[in-house]
Amino acid sequence: MTEPTIYYVDASLLKESACMLKFDYIHNKGYITADSAFQMDYGTAGHKFIHSYMATKDIQAARKVAFLFFMSKCLKVPANDFRTLDHLNSTTQAYTIQYPIETEPLKPDLIKGEPALELPFQQPLEMFFDPTTYEELYTALARANMKIVLAGTVDLKGTYFGDSCISDHKFTAMWREEQYIDGFRLNIQTMFYSWVWRKLGLSNIWLPLLMNVIFLKNPTMRSKDPVTKRLVPNTKWTGANFKRSDLITFTDEMMEKFESWLLTKLKEIIHCHTVNSFPQNFTACETVFGPCKFRQFCISKPHVHSVIANNFLSRKYEPWTWQA
Ligand code: SF4
Repeated sequence: MTEPTIYYVDASLLKESACMLKFDYIHNKGYITADSAFQMDYGTAGHKFIHSYMATKDIQAARKVAFLFFMSKCLKVPANDFRTLDHLNSTTQAYTIQYPIETEPLKPDLIKGEPALELPFQQPLEMFFDPTTYEELYTALARANMKIVLAGTVDLKGTYFGDSCISDHKFTAMWREEQYIDGFRLNIQTMFYSWVWRKLGLSNIWLPLLMNVIFLKNPTMRSKDPVTKRLVPNTKWTGANFKRSDLITFTDEMMEKFESWLLTKLKEIIHCHTVNSFPQNFTACETVFGPCKFRQFCISKPHVHSVIANNFLSRKYEPWTWQA
């Protein structure tokens, strides 16, 4: 008997799973575009900064953590993109002005004396769906010789103005700010985190989510020296807007429906793996972020697919290693 294939399923992957071919490209082939790679690296650097800032309250140390992480990675940022090391440096500085730690209403809990920040989880499906109740699910998994692990990282468990919540930080270049934040009210990721937290017995309510969003932009010239084009310290930074949602709450009915959807999706993944076929869904080719990044595969003849694949980086799908 060969080792079972492990599927690491996280919220980002679930969001992309409307088309199972896309799911296959992301999870099984590990394809990632060069664009997504540097955007994710910027996001990861930003996360590292926020976590360090909240944990240590030391602004300079926190900015250094982000700087050092992004220093080598920023070499891959295309010349026409604004996500430079200078940009990151100014954004982290502006964050500390927007949210001074002394008056910050978002506070991490303490778990064994440590702030509840960046809490990764990788738990087998059995922790969420009882094998004695979902016998059919586990028979299908055994037949497919696969295991499913639900994975992710909770950025912060704590309180917002005194109310218990989970918080997720986002670094994005989306410009429809209100629409972007409103989208999290009915969103797989926010529901997934609240559902996981309760299913693991860490809360007896569906915890609300606070989205802490950093909207990234190309800074206007006001923030740059007109001669050197380098960012000017101590001017108002126009390369980022900082917005937070209110606490996004979930009803029992919403969560029942989410759980039922998740179960159906997991069965679909098992079926696709079993028959080794991941079908296309053409209704998912256009998204609010633009065309699907794998469309070149779908509009080209199979004999050129290996050439198209050269345009992608290939990473083992390990969702806990990056955050956007
Ligand atoms: S282009 Fe459409 S069919 Fe092809 S992988 Fe993307 S969503 Fe699926």
